[in-house]
Amino acid sequence: MPYTAAMSPATDTLSCSSCRACCCQLEVMLMAGDDDVPPQFIEQDAWGGEVMLRLDDGWCAALNRKTMMCSIYTVRPLICREYELGDHDCLEQRKRIPILSLPREQA
Ligand code: SF4
Ligand code: SF4
Repeated sequence: MPYTAAMSPATDTLSCSSCRACCCQLEVMLMAGDDDVPPQFIEQDAWGGEVMLRLDDGWCAALNRKTMMCSIYTVRPLICREYELGDHDCLEQRKRIPILSLPREQA
């Protein structure tokens, strides 16, 4: 997960750099070892487990909205670390959000 992708119309290359962080609207459960995630970005789910806080628009609270990149990249949860660019789920998420190729604002 972001770094963020789209099929570039020019190159047909999949890249997180032009994606609007589609996968950062998915639920992210915290696992053993995710101890460095800042607590302000964590909430409890209905079963008492820890998940990344998502805001009213559905995106993870740790997503920088100007850059659409992860603001806690170096300490992001294991699930985010293991999310594979270009796998089935990534491609499905990219289809789900119709703003893939909008340019990001500069930080
Ligand atoms: S949906 Fe895929 S391309 Fe987009 S940010 Fe996530 S991993 Fe990258
Ligand atoms: S922690 Fe970072 S990579 Fe993971 S969902 Fe949130 S913004 Fe995306």
